[in-house]
Amino acid sequence: MKVLIADDENISRRRLEKFLESMDYEVTSCKDGIEAWEAIQSENAPNLLILDWMMPGMDGLEICRKVRKLAREPYTFILLLTSKSEQDDIIKGMEAGADDYITKPFNKNELRVRLRAGKRIVELNEELLAVRNDLEKQAIHDGLTGLYNRNYMSEILDKEFPRTLRYQTDLSCLLLDLDYFKDVNDTFGHAFGDLVLREFANCLEQEARKIDIPFRYGGEEFLLLLPNTGIAGARNVAEKIRTACEKKTYDDGNNSTTVTVSIGIASVKQNQLLESKELIAFADKALYRAKTEGRNRVEVYMKEYYEQLKDGKSIDNKDFRYLKENLSLVLEKTKRASIESLKLLARDMSDDAYKQHNHYVGQYISLIGERLALPPSIIETFKRAATLHDNFKVLLRKNLKNKDKVLNTEEKIEIEDHPYMLSELIGLFDFFSNEKSILLYHHENFDGTGYPGGLKENEIPLGARIFTIADAIAVMLTERSYSKKLSPEEIIKELADNAGKQFDPWLISLFFDIIEKQKLLPVPIEVLTKAKERLREVS
Ligand code: GH3
Ligand code: MG
Ligand code: MG
Repeated sequence: MKVLIADDENISRRRLEKFLESMDYEVTSCKDGIEAWEAIQSENAPNLLILDWMMPGMDGLEICRKVRKLAREPYTFILLLTSKSEQDDIIKGMEAGADDYITKPFNKNELRVRLRAGKRIVELNEELLAVRNDLEKQAIHDGLTGLYNRNYMSEILDKEFPRTLRYQTDLSCLLLDLDYFKDVNDTFGHAFGDLVLREFANCLEQEARKIDIPFRYGGEEFLLLLPNTGIAGARNVAEKIRTACEKKTYDDGNNSTTVTVSIGIASVKQNQLLESKELIAFADKALYRAKTEGRNRVEVYMKEYYEQLKDGKSIDNKDFRYLKENLSLVLEKTKRASIESLKLLARDMSDDAYKQHNHYVGQYISLIGERLALPPSIIETFKRAATLHDNFKVLLRKNLKNKDKVLNTEEKIEIEDHPYMLSELIGLFDFFSNEKSILLYHHENFDGTGYPGGLKENEIPLGARIFTIADAIAVMLTERSYSKKLSPEEIIKELADNAGKQFDPWLISLFFDIIEKQKLLPVPIEVLTKAKERLREVS
């Protein structure tokens, strides 16, 4: 440890130097107060001071006061050297900021122990400082990735946002979310997921510019603040990050995979934002759009687009294919969720080799599909089929095993049947196939004059026949731009008139019974009776 001594008496000073050096202290030695004060102010000044009380230029007391005013960290420990005559004033010395004193000529043992106490105080203070720094660091950093955390993000944003408005510069925000990250965890385990998060964070730091500030926003979401940057600049940075991420391989020695990222961008100027909350909320909307439009892409928040959505006007409402693609992407997530549940079901029965097998199959399908330049969605479908196959097989194998001593031939039949079994199992996942026929035939008429099939009577699925009636009544009950609201009596009449034509008369008569018993519509009983009579004529 370093120690500074200041003493104008040469002999006394040399004796001190020698003694301290013999105890392995690193000694800085000063001949008067002014020289000492200068040394104390230097950057690597010692934290242990031995100051003579009486010195020319500046005395020990004054130095004490000045040192305490500096309030350096870690603490500076001051030991005053006093002669016998100054001993009565010792209180003054302590009040000036000295920690301890020793009379000269000093006793070696006494100096040794007093200095040791000082050293301990300085060391404890250093430790305390280190802990405090650690705590401060932890409070603003994320433990896994080492990036700043979300709390600190709010703090920074609270400073950056007003500054941007005041100086009329720009500020952009990138919100980044890893695509299908749940799959990574499910396939390779959480530890591998953590590795991906750490390495992605590194990649983010590397691809961002020096002035950009990266944060871990939560789970697998990151945020990048770009001070002094508008939409165009932000888009460049985002695209660079997206491409770098796409190319990166994550590898822990056992497993290796790639992950893509979706990015939403918003900036202050483009949207004339007045609140920092909006910046993140808008970037989040853009991110959501990047997800629904296929992932692994960058989207910028555009006010007009979202306002159009709010007005109920879809941007491309004439483009049926566009709508279909968007809906497929929504479904994509459902498909993944179903497969994940299936994997969970099979998990305990499959081993690592099995998972590895599926991983390879997927990889090879991708390679061949890409070589054939097939669209990504088709390649995904092929891969999903492989995953379904593998997992169903795991589950089926359990069934086979559970049967006691199956005959060989029976076993064989069972194996040859397995494509049928797989197809039957996958059939369970066609969960809207029954609804489909209702949508297809809901404009068929009971008398065969409807479309698209011109089906009649019982050829029309029951669900479609019921839907047609329920939908028609609901339309009659409400005011629409293209039809006026009907009174209950008019509704009954309309239903009765169209029974046997548009509507199934048997269902209509059933519905009239319900109206009567449950008092569904306020109509006089005679009206219903009359209507029922007409129905009987029809049938
Ligand atoms: P999307 O493309 O729609 O973003 O799909 P996704 O699977 O990435 O999204 P989702 O929000 O469904 O899943 C996020 C996953 O991130 C779920 C959670 O288990 C995982 N995750 C969150 N924090 C951590 C973490 O600290 N470590 C690991 N390994 N996984 C995490
Ligand atoms: Mg997420
Ligand atoms: Mg995600």
